[in-house]
Amino acid sequence: MSHIFPRHTKSLPPMVSHGEGAYLYDCDGKAYLDGSGGAAVSCLGHSDSKVVAAMQAQLGQVAFAHTGFFTSEPAERLADRLISLAPEGLDRVYVVAGGSEAMESALKLARQYYLEKGEPKRRHIIARRQSYHGNTLGALATGGNIWRREPFAPLLIDVHHVSPCYAYRGKHPGETEEQYGERLALEIEEKIAELGAENVMAFVAEPVVGATAGAVPSVPGYFRRIREICDANGILLILDEVMCGMGRTGTLFACEQDGVAPDICAIAKGLGAGYAPIGAMLCSAEIYAAIENGSGFFQHGHTYLGHPTSCAGANAVLDRLVDDKLVERVAPVGAMLRGALEERFGQHANVGDIRGRGLFLGIELVSDRDTKAPLDPSRGVAGKLKKAAFAEGLICYPMSGTIDGANGDHILLAPPFILSDDQVGELVDKLEAAMKTVL
Ligand code: PLP
Repeated sequence: MSHIFPRHTKSLPPMVSHGEGAYLYDCDGKAYLDGSGGAAVSCLGHSDSKVVAAMQAQLGQVAFAHTGFFTSEPAERLADRLISLAPEGLDRVYVVAGGSEAMESALKLARQYYLEKGEPKRRHIIARRQSYHGNTLGALATGGNIWRREPFAPLLIDVHHVSPCYAYRGKHPGETEEQYGERLALEIEEKIAELGAENVMAFVAEPVVGATAGAVPSVPGYFRRIREICDANGILLILDEVMCGMGRTGTLFACEQDGVAPDICAIAKGLGAGYAPIGAMLCSAEIYAAIENGSGFFQHGHTYLGHPTSCAGANAVLDRLVDDKLVERVAPVGAMLRGALEERFGQHANVGDIRGRGLFLGIELVSDRDTKAPLDPSRGVAGKLKKAAFAEGLICYPMSGTIDGANGDHILLAPPFILSDDQVGELVDKLEAAMKTVL
């Protein structure tokens, strides 16, 4: 009998044996094409020899040293490298162990920044209904995913949620994308006015929404307007790039494509690429200066801050992404995959939308393409599709059920950047076979 506490207690997964390139293998020798990188994690694929070697070397040198006593060469190098690659204005890196920790750090830093500046009234967070920012309580409160929040609602701080930028469902007929983005910007301005700008500390968003609705990018100009609104009201812009960052959308930081730089940015999944549990919060020089010139102490931390072995892994991941130019593969391979998905499923009666950026693609499933009516959530179609695809030897990430702002069933694809042309074909073939058994 197993003593593992699995997340799904009623359907136990097979045991993984090993990984190689774009595939994972179970102990019976069955191969699975990793079409979603787990949950948009494994951007390099599995068993990358350079990352493995870098982490092994670091383990032999010093695996761990607590940041209460030491800094380390891999952590310093990672911070320097990230800042040299990050959007303008980001200047400091706080290295944590995952995405929720990065977001929790971002929220607490925003609050402490305003305390240090003598603006203690600033405490409200504005976020979007279609969002997921992590499972720890602050991050969970910030996310708008009702299904994830509901059981824990009594434990969550109040966060003010506004409409997502979700053109497929939110844009009115006849409205241009620019007009739609402007309408959403006005809603945010109204929310700020309602709360009183002097009470608002941050606007939080994923540049491309991931785990709530499957790779939903914003319309052109939307984030630039949000940046203007934040600046005009002295509000921090926190971008959550935990899922969409680290090259997944074709640029190292997704927000580069939106033409904005945040005050605080959270990254995680692709940073460790699955080799190390690691995340990071990047913040501006101004925010850091407020702490440095104020109390001199960020009143938040975790045991595994700046973990040397994880940082060594992340440095090697960055070498692969940037020096070995794997990020440059994302746009062309993503375009090929998207083209293949559109060709195969573009006319499917139950496919409402195929969208995303780079190798971060979502398929929204509907019961009627014309009315966009979602599938009956009780059918759990996305979950069934995940199972059917897994049986075919394909890993894809499902989102099921009724979620405010997303409504329904989605499949997220986020394969490794090393995906070959043949593997693009294999992915689409296996997905089609799975679709045939479910829809
Ligand atoms: N933020 C976003 C956008 C995410 O997609 C996730 C995880 O899916 C998180 C935060 C939380 O990250 P983690 O699961 O590493 O705690």
